[in-house]
Amino acid sequence: MGQGIDFDIVVIGGGIVGLASAYKITLAHPDIRVAVLEKEEQLAMHQTGHNSGVIHSGLYYKPDSTKAKTCAKGRKELVAFAKKHRIPCEITGKIIVATDEKELPGLERIYQNGLENQVEGIEKIRPDEIKEIEPFCEGIAGIKVPCTGVIDFAEVSKALGRLIEKNGQGNKILTSHEVTGFDKHDFYMSIVTNKGAFSANYIINCAGLQCDRIAQMDGLDPKMRIIPFRGDYYELAEEACEKVKSLVYPVPDPAFPFLGVHLTRKVDGSVECGPNAVLSFKREGYGKTDFNFTDTWESLSYWGTWKMFRRHWRYGLGEYTRAFCRKLFLRQLQRLIPSLGPDDIKPGGAGVRAQALGSKGELIDDFKIERNKNFIHVLNAPSPAATASLAIGDYINEIATEYFNLE
Ligand SMILES: Cc1cc2nc3c(=O)[nH]c(=O)nc-3n(C[C@H](O)[C@H](O)[C@H](O)COP(=O)(O)OP(=O)(O)OC[C@H]3O[C@@H](n4cnc5c(N)ncnc54)[C@H](O)[C@@H]3O)c2cc1C
Repeated sequence: MGQGIDFDIVVIGGGIVGLASAYKITLAHPDIRVAVLEKEEQLAMHQTGHNSGVIHSGLYYKPDSTKAKTCAKGRKELVAFAKKHRIPCEITGKIIVATDEKELPGLERIYQNGLENQVEGIEKIRPDEIKEIEPFCEGIAGIKVPCTGVIDFAEVSKALGRLIEKNGQGNKILTSHEVTGFDKHDFYMSIVTNKGAFSANYIINCAGLQCDRIAQMDGLDPKMRIIPFRGDYYELAEEACEKVKSLVYPVPDPAFPFLGVHLTRKVDGSVECGPNAVLSFKREGYGKTDFNFTDTWESLSYWGTWKMFRRHWRYGLGEYTRAFCRKLFLRQLQRLIPSLGPDDIKPGGAGVRAQALGSKGELIDDFKIERNKNFIHVLNAPSPAATASLAIGDYINEIATEYFNLE
């Protein structure tokens, strides 16, 4: 491809979506030069390195959506990838538990959805079967999902980074390179970073929490805005870890793309509880009181945010109070594991989700990928995008091959 040009394709963002996309492109097109530009010193410092580490089954997602299609495919490929590259990964299975009669229709809906999405091995379970799997869990009905698992997505990202460079001499992973703008020329693009400019023919925007800003730098009106939703975690104290064998989830509220506070036994054996979902005042802020004026202004000056507030204020208020009140957070966990006490939980980390919000205040549910001139923009890649990453990579490679006319 282009001679005298630094790279054929530049991917912006060294999270798992950018890396998986670059990896799949380098596999399919070994002769082209691909660079991944990441603004942080290391890969996977934002959503990918701050998530729950769950390999999702694909149970919840609307049949025929990109989420449903890529989750099942990506999950299987991810497990094989982890095995091949010796990344710790375990298929532990999970249960979804209804604790109240009112949740039974929701549980049934998820089960039927899982059948439609052909999730392997799902089964309805009775209270005694819940106890056989999770002896400390109390529920009136449940679903057993055997193909769910846990993994360290940051480790997957690092492996992808190594493979991208191995796949071609001209391929580069450039950390500490923040993209600040673009200069358009007749036959190529100049990508301006804090460390100088690079020329490239095509650009793929996988900037996660910053993806709408990169799209705007390209002159695209993305007709959405990234609204950051922080998720706080607690951890179980060592003595309480025996109360959770694998993964225990509540029945989620179908109005939201979040799965509800759950308990996850991670690959290192620790048990994480969370995340909740509160509007964050900083896109990359992991503390409860972190604040950034530009981020806050951009969220609050967007009509969609106020429409979302109007529609969901009760849910938002509930999540906020639980974020600041350990007792209320614990009460949510006790619905699933009643014997958990105040000394059983200690504060853990946090993650911030890049959730695309439409102008009518709708939380955009499915993955959103747009083309514009020399760009492909990934504008919504929330959970289960880490699970689905290798399949999303294939999908982006397909789009790039056709749209960029790659050989
Ligand atoms: C709390 C939480 C829990 C989750 N749990 C799960 C789970 O259990 N399972 C699952 O499958 N998914 C989960 N997810 C979702 C999953 O983590 C994300 O969908 C996925 O990590 C998105 O990857 P990404 O590469 O798009 O974004 P990111 O990982 O955020 O990567 C984007 C990268 O772009 C870089 N960047 C931004 N701007 C620039 C710029 N100007 N120049 C250069 N680089 C730039 C950033 O520094 C960042 O590294 C969870 C997410 C959160 C937040």
